[in-house]
Amino acid sequence: MSREEKKTRIEKLRSEIASCKRCSLHKTRTHTVPGEGDLNAKIMFIGEAPGKNEDLQGKPFIGRSGKVFDKLLESVGLTRNQIFLCNILKCRPPDNRNPLATEIHACTRNLDIQIKVIDPQVIATLGNFSTTYIFQKFNLALEKISAVHGQVIGVDTAFGHKKIVPLFHPAVATYNNSKLNVLLNDFCVFKQFLEKNKSF
Ligand code: SF4
Repeated sequence: MSREEKKTRIEKLRSEIASCKRCSLHKTRTHTVPGEGDLNAKIMFIGEAPGKNEDLQGKPFIGRSGKVFDKLLESVGLTRNQIFLCNILKCRPPDNRNPLATEIHACTRNLDIQIKVIDPQVIATLGNFSTTYIFQKFNLALEKISAVHGQVIGVDTAFGHKKIVPLFHPAVATYNNSKLNVLLNDFCVFKQFLEKNKSF
């Protein structure tokens, strides 16, 4: 798919999300947070749901977790312009509570379209919710994130071979400093990916 086709489809999706009422989160959101980044990104990061700052500004990962995330990207020489970044839910759950199964079920149509259109080589999941969804989507045996974080798992999908990289959510590093070191270590897999894809 050409960049122009991708742009058209992602903009259409963005406008559908902006008026989406498929779950009750539309009643409490300020802005939808569809996600953003390079439409030709080789790496797509999927988090959980917008928080307070994201809901106010309509952008993903801009609060404290976002600062950690930027630090992690920087540690491997990546910038947000080279990746696509989004969440499973496009609207903020009140008081940042965990996403409900019904909300995930209602919203993942949007994520599925993003994955199909952007067609990344690597799908990196940030936290339990996106890891569980992506593992189920690609028929991988479900594991706790504590058992699989930092691994690179190859899957053959309807739209080609993908690498799945499950990671802890950057939010854990905002209250547990040892988890920051775990995340920094896990992010090294992207250095290897960049090394193998020098034209990236
Ligand atoms: S969270 Fe997703 S399904 Fe629910 S209203 Fe927002 S965009 Fe629609």
